[in-house]
Amino acid sequence: MKLPLQRQLIVDYGLKMIRSGLTTGSGGNLSILDRESGLIAISPTGIDYHDVGVNDIVIVDRCGTIVDGERKPSSEIGFHLALYDSRSDISSVVHTHSVYATTLACLQWELPAVHYLVAFSGDKVPLAPYATFGTSELAENTVAAIGDYNAVLLANHGLVAVGADMKSAFNVAEEIELVARIYYQAKSLGQPVLVDGEEMKRVIEKFGSYGQQDNINTRETL
Ligand code: 13P
Ligand code: ZN
Repeated sequence: MKLPLQRQLIVDYGLKMIRSGLTTGSGGNLSILDRESGLIAISPTGIDYHDVGVNDIVIVDRCGTIVDGERKPSSEIGFHLALYDSRSDISSVVHTHSVYATTLACLQWELPAVHYLVAFSGDKVPLAPYATFGTSELAENTVAAIGDYNAVLLANHGLVAVGADMKSAFNVAEEIELVARIYYQAKSLGQPVLVDGEEMKRVIEKFGSYGQQDNINTRETL
């Protein structure tokens, strides 16, 4: 079996996505690029995350050709492949239909810097124009809109988050959902005061050294 560790991570994070309320049923999808082999592990299309096991994960090459697995890959394989092609800094993609982010996406709004945690994406979360799910047009729109950001809202659809690994991509999805919820609530009560651009630059720089990442005693190995 190819990429057993990555398969297990997709299974685990699929369940985590459901349990954290970031999606329902078989909505959303997850992938990991193994840069050593050039292969990608991706969730299967249309299977409830509770029913997905390691054997259901599909392994494809960078062109999307199946090299291991019995199932059909996610219908959104197009934007997963396109994101890996356009961003050499990322090795994981998480797509959710989380409710607050999707609410903004249905208004076709971007998510501005209403809270400093938007820095998980950048100084905002941009919006990709609407296209039918699973199409090359949606893949093109996603890549064009995300640019160097770590998250993008898909109009009338959901959220895509990217990261250096599955843990960080998932973290981006979780934190952006929180900021989207805060924005929704703040907008419901009044006119939110945004964090200005200079301050967001400071926050983004500070994020570069936040946490345990430069602590040589506790640096993670995987
Ligand atoms: P898949 O089940 O094909 O991954 O599709 C879910 C989805 O979110 C489509 O955008
Ligand atoms: Zn979707």
